[in-house]
Amino acid sequence: MSKTGGESKLSMLIRAGCEGAKKALELAQNGVGEVIRNKGEETRFGYPETAYGLPILYAFEGLEVKKISDVVPVLEKMKNEILKINSKELIGVSDGLELGKATLYAAEVIEALKYIENERAYEAPITGFVPDAVLRKLGVSLVDDTIPGVAVFFGKGSDVKGLLHMIRECQEKGMLIMACMDVIEQLKSENIALGIERMLYPLGGLTAVIHAVNFAVRAGLSFGGIKKGQEEEMLNYLKKRVKAFVVHLGVVNEVVAAVALGALYCGIPIITDCDLPELDKLVVVEKDATKVIGTAIDLKGIKIRLTKVPIPVPYGPAFEGEIIRKKDAYLEAGGTRSISFELVRMNDNTIDGKIEIIGKDVDEIPFGSTIPLGIVVDVAGKKMEKDFESVIERRIHIFLNYAEGIWHAGQRNLNWIRMSKSAVEKGLRLKHIGDILISKFRSEFSGVISRVQVTIITDEEEVKRRLPEALAIYSERDKRLSGLTDETVSTFYTCLLCQSFAPDHVCIVTPERLGLCGAINWLDAKTSYEITPTGPNQPVEKSDVIDEKKGSFKGINQVVMEKSHGKVEEINLYSMMDKPMTSCGCFECIVAFVPECNGVMIVNREYSGDTPTGMKFSTLAGTVGGGVQVPGFMGIGRQYITSRKFISGDGGLGRIVWMPKMLKEGIKDKFEERAKELGLDGLMDKIADETIGVRPEEVLEYITKKEHPVLKMPPMI
Ligand code: SF4
Ligand code: ZN
Repeated sequence: MSKTGGESKLSMLIRAGCEGAKKALELAQNGVGEVIRNKGEETRFGYPETAYGLPILYAFEGLEVKKISDVVPVLEKMKNEILKINSKELIGVSDGLELGKATLYAAEVIEALKYIENERAYEAPITGFVPDAVLRKLGVSLVDDTIPGVAVFFGKGSDVKGLLHMIRECQEKGMLIMACMDVIEQLKSENIALGIERMLYPLGGLTAVIHAVNFAVRAGLSFGGIKKGQEEEMLNYLKKRVKAFVVHLGVVNEVVAAVALGALYCGIPIITDCDLPELDKLVVVEKDATKVIGTAIDLKGIKIRLTKVPIPVPYGPAFEGEIIRKKDAYLEAGGTRSISFELVRMNDNTIDGKIEIIGKDVDEIPFGSTIPLGIVVDVAGKKMEKDFESVIERRIHIFLNYAEGIWHAGQRNLNWIRMSKSAVEKGLRLKHIGDILISKFRSEFSGVISRVQVTIITDEEEVKRRLPEALAIYSERDKRLSGLTDETVSTFYTCLLCQSFAPDHVCIVTPERLGLCGAINWLDAKTSYEITPTGPNQPVEKSDVIDEKKGSFKGINQVVMEKSHGKVEEINLYSMMDKPMTSCGCFECIVAFVPECNGVMIVNREYSGDTPTGMKFSTLAGTVGGGVQVPGFMGIGRQYITSRKFISGDGGLGRIVWMPKMLKEGIKDKFEERAKELGLDGLMDKIADETIGVRPEEVLEYITKKEHPVLKMPPMI
């Protein structure tokens, strides 16, 4: 390698990285040695709430780390690699990448060591390791480009203003942000809200950047169908499917250089404000803070879907999780404290862009008020259908929550809204609810809506006068929906959204079985097809019935076969035991066979404890996902549990023997109703939960005592 120009700079970087990798590895080995000396070789080792132990070692080495001594050989191997590279006269890019890999392994171990004493190694809002459940929850937003990409900030911004500019830019584009090192303190000092719910994860110090990498790696493992040890496939996945980049700010020391090499090993590009050697599409120097994010977005080919909304406060998914406390609320409406409702209705007389306020706006409303509120959105468009009203109306929730300073919960006449004092100080008014809804509905539903008009009513008499009309529309919709069954329609829909992560996964969405993410039901899919006829939701004719009970149709099988690229030949829509539908990774719940009880258990993503299968949700999820059929296990949307078609081919609702208490509580009413319909009154009480036991024997004892109907059912296999 020559000693001039970029190359020499590059080899200097790699040399520095070599020193850094050595240091990191030494630190890891020393830490591991100390644990072995003090606590023994068998000491449990791995991150909490994940199915993958140490995800990076799992993915690249095929190593299922369970105890501390499991990592000794691989660290030793990496050390020898480094020594070998170190002794070379000339170091090339491939050596650099190898060093990067060694650094990743070291950082993964160093961070995991922090969890030996304590499952909570970091104090909130610092996240440290991000649990699998968070990744799965983000699933759909990541695949439909609501979250267009992940920006990892790393280092220390030379000026806070520039840093803030970049962060705001990412937030306005809806990016997921991760931050490490001094950047975190800098953001804190500027009162930027940090945390999982704000889509701005403060990961921790220098080595904590590994949590961005193991997050990306787990996307490949949980959605991409990549198996442990498939290094090449994983690297490919990271390069092609993971839309992440690193923004490095500040100085480069040896360890930073080593970590940078680690990012490059994974194909994650780095935009830096330092004089690093540029590498085609991988390392780009950009010192102008206003250009950094744009450069990164171009580099990674990230698509931004978010439209700019004309309001005086920031707007984007980053603010969705914002909570406004009563004392910080300038005003609130609904939530049983006042009369309120929200309604989307099809109306040919819609005047596009018109916002009308009937009653007072914020300026005439005193601080701390509880006000009556009606929000009526009139929409019109050639392809608009009555059926789409509810789909569109449900989006009010998310579109309002995206505004910093507006909090929205519930729906219909059970909605609840708060507007914060600080937002009002920035100029936010009720009229802006109209601006938000008009611009979002226009952009998100452009295929079906050509005109939008919003009426905001704060006059109590007028709200009261209009409420009955809204109630009538709601109940008419409900009636129509409950009549919508798999038998009454001839067309189902595919959903291929998750293929950007799980390339062979196909969801078939039917009136009685919604997508496993819980976010797409049949009407949603139908609407989305009308809006984007070439989009991820395509109509499928059921055509000939092969097996009615199990839900096998010729037309469906053909499409599944084609869309899964030949990987899945047939599916039974209503069976989990025989050719079940595949799962991507973002399922809300998992149904699993419990052979001891001749029944099934269901666990929801939020429940992190043990289950009768002997596996926690995270471990189970690891076996279910990735777009393959796994008889006996299936990812489902929560609402499918109370559908008439819930594993009806395997015996249906009466098969359920265990669910976490929180899940039972959450679906209780609908569940009882369905059970009654099936002549299984009181079924909920016969279903065990974690307070009764998590071992199959305990569940069996309980259901026997309770005379659970499953005891009289034929064997499941
Ligand atoms: Fe993904 Fe299926 Fe949900 Fe579509 S319906 S977003 S494919 S999980
Ligand atoms: Zn999915």
